[in-house]
Amino acid sequence: MRLSRFFLPILKENPKEAEIVSHRLMLRTGMIRQQSQGIYSWLPLGKRVLDKVNKIIREEQNRAGAIELLMPTLQSADLWRESGRYDAYGKEMLRIKDRQDRDMLYGPTNEEMITEIFRSYVKSYKDLPLNLYHIQLKFRDEVRPRFGTMRSREFLMKDAYSFDIDREAAEHSYRKMFTAYLRTFDRLGLRAIPMRADTGPIGGNLSHEFIILADTGESEVYSHKDFVNFDIPSVDTDFDDVAGLQAVFDKWTSVYAATSEMHDEAAFAAIPEGDRLSARGIEVGHIFYFGTKYSAAMGASVQGPDGKQHDAHMGSYGIGPTRLVPAIIEASHDENGIIWPKSVAPFDVSIINMKAGDQACDAASEKLYAALGKAGFDMLYDDTDDRAGAKFATADLIGVPSQIIVGPRSVASGEVEIKDRKSGARETLSIDAAINKLV
Ligand code: ATP
Ligand code: MG
Ligand code: MG
Ligand code: MG
Repeated sequence: MRLSRFFLPILKENPKEAEIVSHRLMLRTGMIRQQSQGIYSWLPLGKRVLDKVNKIIREEQNRAGAIELLMPTLQSADLWRESGRYDAYGKEMLRIKDRQDRDMLYGPTNEEMITEIFRSYVKSYKDLPLNLYHIQLKFRDEVRPRFGTMRSREFLMKDAYSFDIDREAAEHSYRKMFTAYLRTFDRLGLRAIPMRADTGPIGGNLSHEFIILADTGESEVYSHKDFVNFDIPSVDTDFDDVAGLQAVFDKWTSVYAATSEMHDEAAFAAIPEGDRLSARGIEVGHIFYFGTKYSAAMGASVQGPDGKQHDAHMGSYGIGPTRLVPAIIEASHDENGIIWPKSVAPFDVSIINMKAGDQACDAASEKLYAALGKAGFDMLYDDTDDRAGAKFATADLIGVPSQIIVGPRSVASGEVEIKDRKSGARETLSIDAAINKLV
């Protein structure tokens, strides 16, 4: 991508409305635009990051055996009357009437709808286990939408729903998602701690929130320090291995971790003082096993091996991609801007042509752009006629992992400079060596 042809509306000033660093940086880099309170457009730079986050989430959901579909944002109130949640949900639910005066709502979550789909098609235990997910917009009329897309009213959620014949099988499905979440957050460059959590309006008895520690987090959390050193389940994890996933789950739940709602002072006090962690955190994912709460209310049963009807045992599993993007920035930035983990960076490389219009600089930049493009790199080539200083500032601000600086002096001796955004390390290399180093 040539910057001269891209849409990157960088703000010069720090926007006053942004209270936390991720919100400030997302506005300054032109990643998002607020359209009305708590409702955002994702501009091209932001959309690139969001797509990469979603891709990793998808890959790990698929690896764990979940199957993608897409349900609508608008739902019928009647479906929610069946579960009893239409009246119970309260003001967070945006209620709408269509032209026939039918009660509709903008979905805050999809347990009812997925249960309706399940009961329409699945009749036998032989079709279980089943886990269906989608990545779709949700709407919750939050009392205090704030911090940009960290807590917005319209937001993206990956929500998966598992169906099993009994509790034991459902708990294995739960552990599949638990394991997939550990892998997902790790690939996003984050250390998420699974914490025992309250089940809230979803209901149920087994639940973990995945929390990223950050001073700007809205949750108060308590945990053992050991989590920092736990191993992430490998890419070769066999998701059908019941004992294997049980071992992962046992390890990751072996030491204390709880949100304030579930906090147990006595258990926490039993941890040696130096190992206690009392901090603030951001909830980036939340998983629930809630048994037959919806299947019983909505008539979603299957025939078991005993020939009898059994209400399906269900779980639901949420991740917030539009919250994850600012959470990643909270965890990875410096005074100059964002430092993207490679896995989600909007581009792999920034090519900075310090003197666009200069024949040698243009030729060297074009050579790099073509060669790295051929090798499959995603590049932002700053070919504008801005001052070099402004270009460096923009490159640091948007946080692409590697910068290649093409300046008249080094190009005269056939060289360019590579700068690593994270460490700040610089290296001068011949153009070919620079290409070889990155490829
Ligand atoms: P919170 O406690 O922050 O209000 P929640 O517990 O209500 O979140 P869940 O119902 O557990 O949210 O939804 C699953 C995931 O969706 C959350 O873990 C979070 O990542 C994301 N999410 C929920 N509400 C929002 C929001 N208002 N803006 C952005 N992401 C959200
Ligand atoms: Mg909430
Ligand atoms: Mg919560
Ligand atoms: Mg939650």
